[in-house]
Amino acid sequence: MKRYNQLLNESSFPIAENQKILIVDDSAMVLKILYDMLKNEYVVIQAKSGEEALQLAVREIPDLILLDVIMKDMDGYQVCKVFKSDPLTKNIPIIFVSGLNEQNDEKKGLELGAIDYITKPFSEPIVKIRIKNHLELKAYRDFLEQISSLDGLTGIYNRRYFNTYYLREWERAIRERTPISLIIIDIDRFKEYNDNLGHLAGDECLKKISGSIGNSLFRKNDIACRLGGEEFICVLPNTDLPDAVCIAERIAADIEKLNIPHEYSDVKPIITVSMGVGTIIPIENYSYIEFLNMTDRLLYHAKKSGRNKIQAKYIVLHNKK
Ligand code: GH3
Ligand code: MG
Ligand code: MG
Repeated sequence: MKRYNQLLNESSFPIAENQKILIVDDSAMVLKILYDMLKNEYVVIQAKSGEEALQLAVREIPDLILLDVIMKDMDGYQVCKVFKSDPLTKNIPIIFVSGLNEQNDEKKGLELGAIDYITKPFSEPIVKIRIKNHLELKAYRDFLEQISSLDGLTGIYNRRYFNTYYLREWERAIRERTPISLIIIDIDRFKEYNDNLGHLAGDECLKKISGSIGNSLFRKNDIACRLGGEEFICVLPNTDLPDAVCIAERIAADIEKLNIPHEYSDVKPIITVSMGVGTIIPIENYSYIEFLNMTDRLLYHAKKSGRNKIQAKYIVLHNKK
């Protein structure tokens, strides 16, 4: 609980701005009414058909979708079903804007996962307030989602987020037949550091190390997470072994540059780390947990061979799942 409060204090609730609304209607007139009504307060994008809406939503990830029900080709209910079945779009709130005003139509829309159902003709001021309320909730949900993926002490991603991200990128690597690399990092002789300098100093050290690891990653899709204790992990999508080793070497060099004194270490009189670096081109039957374990074993070898070392390997599995 303490950690949660700490986090909340550090990252106060953001005032939502530039929220994006996608309006979908096959009538140019309705699009224009909605656009004029919302354009001053929000970023508004428009689609004239279900197909166009599906493409636009995946690309733009709007904060809210206003969806017409009766359209040529794909109707709004069908479009809503597709949105709700795609992990990329399933959390975007949808409001149906419909000429159908039977209770059954409304029930159907809400059952499909829409948060609201507005019937045409509608009252502009009321619709504007409803939209404002839904967008406030959306901003708050985004905020909660974001802080629940961060580590309370260091502010980098936590283990929970690592699990989600790693699995997502693993599956992408299978689909796109690209390599994926992991770097597991463990601080050397950190127990000695804590026991001699105290937990507060230990915490400060963990913050510096995690910041440094984050700064050593340059690519947009590379992420650093705290696995727990004094252990960190980097996920490097679409990265082959030589590149992963380069990044691991940069991480080690940057940590060394911090020059954090550790006179109780038998490795060096400053904080050092050991790393396991694994690369794989995953296929359908491979187990992502097995790959994680193999990379962890490399870290173990790095420790065994004297610490302040990098053990790296291209990993081939035997169709374990
Ligand atoms: P090795 O070189 O083999 O990795 O040895 P080590 O001492 O780093 O490893 P060990 O797993 O024995 O000890 C890890 C220590 O990390 C135990 C604890 O004192 C410290 N630690 C773990 N989590 C935290 C934390 O959140 N804050 C602080 N200050 N210390 C932590
Ligand atoms: Mg450890
Ligand atoms: Mg350690």
